[in-house]
Amino acid sequence: MKGEIRILKILLALYIFLCLLFAGLNYGVAPGASEEVAELIRNIWHFYENYFKTFLIIAGSWLTLRITGKRSRMQKRNFTGFIMAALLVHILGPVLTGNPDLYFFAMPLPWSSTALQAAVEESAFRSHHLPLWGLGGLSASLAVYILITVVIFTGTVLLGRRWQCSTLCLFNGFISETFSPAFPLLGKRSAPGKKLRKLFVVLKWALLAAALLFFLFWFYVLISGDYRESLAERLADIEVYKYLTVELLMAMFFWVAFTGRGYCYYCPLGTVLGWISRRAGQKIRTDLKNCIQCGKCDRTCPMAIEIRKYAQMKRDVVSSRCVGCGHCVDACPTGTLEYSTAFLEKIRRVK
Ligand code: SF4
Ligand code: SF4
Repeated sequence: MKGEIRILKILLALYIFLCLLFAGLNYGVAPGASEEVAELIRNIWHFYENYFKTFLIIAGSWLTLRITGKRSRMQKRNFTGFIMAALLVHILGPVLTGNPDLYFFAMPLPWSSTALQAAVEESAFRSHHLPLWGLGGLSASLAVYILITVVIFTGTVLLGRRWQCSTLCLFNGFISETFSPAFPLLGKRSAPGKKLRKLFVVLKWALLAAALLFFLFWFYVLISGDYRESLAERLADIEVYKYLTVELLMAMFFWVAFTGRGYCYYCPLGTVLGWISRRAGQKIRTDLKNCIQCGKCDRTCPMAIEIRKYAQMKRDVVSSRCVGCGHCVDACPTGTLEYSTAFLEKIRRVK
């Protein structure tokens, strides 16, 4: 088991190192380089982002299941979802749409305004990418984006936040799950304390406000045709910096020093899906068997939810923070817990 954890940590460290290296080359060097060098960087980036990432998801899932063992029923389903999503978004989708950057379109609003920028004819994002993707590639990617948006929001209404955050998310969700035993890369695992959770709440509202601002701006430009170049490009630049710093770099910092799900505490898409999940009746039932108060559920929850307290009173755990990973359900030695939504309850009743 120690050997598997070590390999997982090495793979995760490699992913972080290569991500920093290639992101630096892609965003920092390629824009000012000759066409040949820029193309070489793009090709390496595409290989890394699509094929290497898919390989990591498969290898990480396999290693993690070897560590967590036979009881990981929910986790197995998480991995099946992530592998399917990676094969569709990173391998099959790019081949069918002719767009190797299809992953730009894999997370719906308000996570990023990329799709809206791509739809605005005058935007720098579109002018830069159109020659690379072609009009067909761009149109197909926008169609895929609409489809993904419908699938994610409809799935969340039925299955709760588990559908995106522990099955389909190819940003922080897949890393958090497929490498779960490897966190943190350095030091000891610890749950975020109250102070840190308060900071996450501030970040959550700030990031959601920023995401809605970008969304409203580009939506207005798209429907009104009122494109003001300097303002639009400044906002597009700010959004890229926001992504690179508060999202990508911070997520990596959490992987290295803290927990895999750090970013999920304040992800703007996760926040919106959390609200939808509440409406969908998402909960962890705690009354299937008698709780023996061992605390394994609390220790395994990546979102610092105190499940044990609820289980003592046989009360449902209802929290928009719950990403539906099912770690608590898998960890419970008595089978007391069950992930559920209003829709899942109906299905179970019919069965
Ligand atoms: S909270 Fe955001 S980053 Fe985390 S799994 Fe959900 S969608 Fe992905
Ligand atoms: S309560 Fe359970 S399903 Fe929800 S985040 Fe925590 S461990 Fe995952």
